[in-house]
Amino acid sequence: MTYDSGNVFAKILKGEIPCKKVYEDTHVLAFHDINPQAPTHVLVIPKGAYVSMDDFSETASDAELAGFVRGVGKVARQLGLVEPGYRVLANHGRNANQDVPHFHLHIFGGRNLGPMLKRPE
Ligand code: 5GP
Repeated sequence: MTYDSGNVFAKILKGEIPCKKVYEDTHVLAFHDINPQAPTHVLVIPKGAYVSMDDFSETASDAELAGFVRGVGKVARQLGLVEPGYRVLANHGRNANQDVPHFHLHIFGGRNLGPMLKRPE
């Protein structure tokens, strides 16, 4: 899948759309989700143009991969989520209902998050 540079997170990275920023460094930007699913719901995105977890894990450089994982850990610590606990999640593709085609990792916290997946109705 080719990267669509008009996606909403690309626009956030370019400063064309505002976001509630939590953290930023060379490799990552973290900001609050516009439609939070938990008391704390933050998205962490790499600054490079990667469509999804599949694309990022296959084509990002070692520095980008390391920078991203370090960034996620820093954000969770900054948000005070280490002691109470948190969940990270990345949706890739159709079965996971990925909406935004720029790789992102969700960080959820602030309450007991319940079972890992919602059961089918
Ligand atoms: P996905 O389903 O692709 O894993 O999740 C996309 C997430 O991006 C959703 O949780 C959605 O609420 C969030 N989102 C979509 N558009 C925007 C936006 O313009 N700003 C912010 N902060 N979050 C957004």
